[in-house]
Amino acid sequence: SKEYDYLIVGSGLFGAVFAYEATKRGKKCLVIDRRDHIGGNVYCENVEGINVHNYGAHIFHTNNKEIWDYVNQFAEFNRYTNAPIANYKGEIYNLPFNMNTFNKLWGAITPGEAKQKIEEQRKTSGIIDPTNLEEQAISLVGTDIYEKLIKGYTEKQWGRNATELPAFIIKRLPIRFNYDNNYFNDKYQGIPEGGYNIIVEKLLLGSDVRLSTDFLTNRNEFEQLTKKVVFTGMIDEYYNYKFGRLEYRSLVFENKLLDIENYQGNAVVNYTDRETPYTRIIEHKHFEFGTQEKTVVTREYSVEWKPGDEPYYPINDKKNNELYIRYKQLAEKETNVIFGGRLAEYKYYDMHNVIYEALKIVKKEFGEFED
Ligand code: FAD
Repeated sequence: SKEYDYLIVGSGLFGAVFAYEATKRGKKCLVIDRRDHIGGNVYCENVEGINVHNYGAHIFHTNNKEIWDYVNQFAEFNRYTNAPIANYKGEIYNLPFNMNTFNKLWGAITPGEAKQKIEEQRKTSGIIDPTNLEEQAISLVGTDIYEKLIKGYTEKQWGRNATELPAFIIKRLPIRFNYDNNYFNDKYQGIPEGGYNIIVEKLLLGSDVRLSTDFLTNRNEFEQLTKKVVFTGMIDEYYNYKFGRLEYRSLVFENKLLDIENYQGNAVVNYTDRETPYTRIIEHKHFEFGTQEKTVVTREYSVEWKPGDEPYYPINDKKNNELYIRYKQLAEKETNVIFGGRLAEYKYYDMHNVIYEALKIVKKEFGEFED
């Protein structure tokens, strides 16, 4: 006698959406998480009335109306539009690169002048066949934008010189010859009013939830309780790293509560020089147009990942992708385990992607095919 239809390992968006949909279909779910809170990486901590994005700034954006309507069932979204600022040694620029950026860089007034400037610099560089990231970037946007806005930031992100990074990392660089500061091109965008936790709480309403509970250390016990497992943790960990470890880039966040109302006037400020050790500063209240008396800022550092660190970004190079395929082949043979989400699929997913993937797996699991 199995107590649960599904044991869901991980209360992030993937696990929570699966739990909600399975419960809706009359199934009994137990959701466990090794952390002491729900929500996975979208979890926010409330500090002085400010929702602090503990695992990195999260801005919801999508082009998919179905996904937008889906999340709007659980929260109302505000009108936040991501418009990051770059700080290069005290010079302030708009991102993505647009007419505001070009005017500040060169005094360009018309799109024609800006285009001409970029074209000149691309020509002067003489690069025809880029062999590394530096050459690739210069061949796309010229030297000024590269030196001030790309080089230092990218080198900090990867912990390596741009000349040592492969060209393919940057395939294209968005350039706009207008004054649109909106970072995303998607039709829908915003931050849930009251924060992301509200959404996840609602998704988990019909499920039993146990926190600070690790699946892998009590595996047998948990497997007794359930007909099927939905696993959203790291796939290599599930298999006890038998083929070796998948690698990640990690991040370190340094939070400060400041006794001032407004620190930087924007949610996201990137530091694009190489010398400033952090890549960006997040001021969380601006995601929600906060009017609190205090403010919380987070300095974000990009660091090398080592076993035990929080895995943030998968390194989808040849070596790691091949290793992942070996684990995936094992996973495909499992009859009672469903693997999903960013860690089990070793893939960077935005929130809208991960919700989409969870809904797709739900349809498959419950035999609801679309044509
Ligand atoms: P997670 O949220 O990681 O959830 C997995 C959960 O499983 C975790 O809570 C973990 O504790 C638990 N778990 C793992 N192993 C075990 C185990 N053995 N036992 C018990 N529990 C376990 N997306 C956007 O759309 N917009 C953004 O602006 C954005 N910014 C981001 C910024 C950063 C720095 C990062 C890293 C990601 C960002 N994302 C953004 C992506 C977003 O975070 C993911 O799409 C989403 O969190 C993935 O959900 P998930 O359920 O797959 O994984």
